[in-house]
Amino acid sequence: MADATIIDGKGFAAGLRAKVAEQAHALRRDHDLVPGLAVVLVGEDPASQIYVRNKNKLTQEVGMKSFEHLLPAETSQKELLTLIEGLNRDPEVHGILVQLPLPDQIDEQFVLAAVEPAKDVDGFHVINAGRLATGAPAMVPCTPVGCVMLIKDQMGEDLSGKKALVVGRSNIVGKPMAALLLRENCTVTMAHSRTQALDEECRRADIVVAAVGRAKMIKGDWLKPGAVVIDVGMNRLPPNEEGKTKLAGDVDFESAKEVAGAITPVPGGVGPMTIACLLQNTIWAACRQAEIEVPEV
Ligand code: NDP
Repeated sequence: MADATIIDGKGFAAGLRAKVAEQAHALRRDHDLVPGLAVVLVGEDPASQIYVRNKNKLTQEVGMKSFEHLLPAETSQKELLTLIEGLNRDPEVHGILVQLPLPDQIDEQFVLAAVEPAKDVDGFHVINAGRLATGAPAMVPCTPVGCVMLIKDQMGEDLSGKKALVVGRSNIVGKPMAALLLRENCTVTMAHSRTQALDEECRRADIVVAAVGRAKMIKGDWLKPGAVVIDVGMNRLPPNEEGKTKLAGDVDFESAKEVAGAITPVPGGVGPMTIACLLQNTIWAACRQAEIEVPEV
């Protein structure tokens, strides 16, 4: 069998950001509305600092306002909640993102629940999770939204009847991913750490989404030939002899690309889509708050 199509998430995300930039331009021109995204980071986690810097840069690049709130690691829950209450009220802020993980003294669920659901561009608020689960309009977590876009780009708009396997059941990736695929009329199986014979589950699936956090766990000979494989995992491998560290996905890319029909690489697959979808969610949030249609571009 020929090697799989390598899905260019980086290129797809650049196209999506260009569309978002056109929408932002139209909103400014026709409605005097500049969507604004506030990102809150507590502490000095280096990976989170890179994400936040990147989000800030890309938000400005598409012509939206970016509000960065960098708080010291010892910030109390009360101080953080006061900041979020202020952002909830601020008319210039249409989207609020609290970068996870938060330091130990702060209850993550409590803080996520304090974000106004209409501004919850990460889609982590229980109201939005509930809306997604019941099929109501919701702010949907960015990573799964990006995954569905990549799947449709490979398989076409109609995913009805496809067998989809989601490996991982976290609230931020696995569960919303499964809900979105169900909404697309896929037959969805969810796997997790207690799943028996995961390889057999994989072999039945037309679509495999891996969101586990274990490097190269899913092997090529677990896959159905021609399957579309979306690798959400981002695992840092131990340094090589030159001291360099590399990222690996949850799928063993080398063996999987021999069997799959299409596969996302890590890096350059799902990762870039997540930020592009965050910007897209911010446009939707701004339009909904202003009670105007999302511009057609
Ligand atoms: P979590 O740790 O919250 O969840 C991992 C899930 O994997 C759990 O449901 C767990 O099952 C399941 N799991 C663990 N071991 C196994 C196993 N051996 N077999 C089957 N399932 C298993 O992780 P996240 O969902 O937050 O993230 C998953 C991965 O995706 C990480 O590598 C993360 O870095 C990456 N990620 C990438 C993003 C991107 O933009 N590209 C965005 C978000 C995450 P159980 O529930 O039973 O414990």
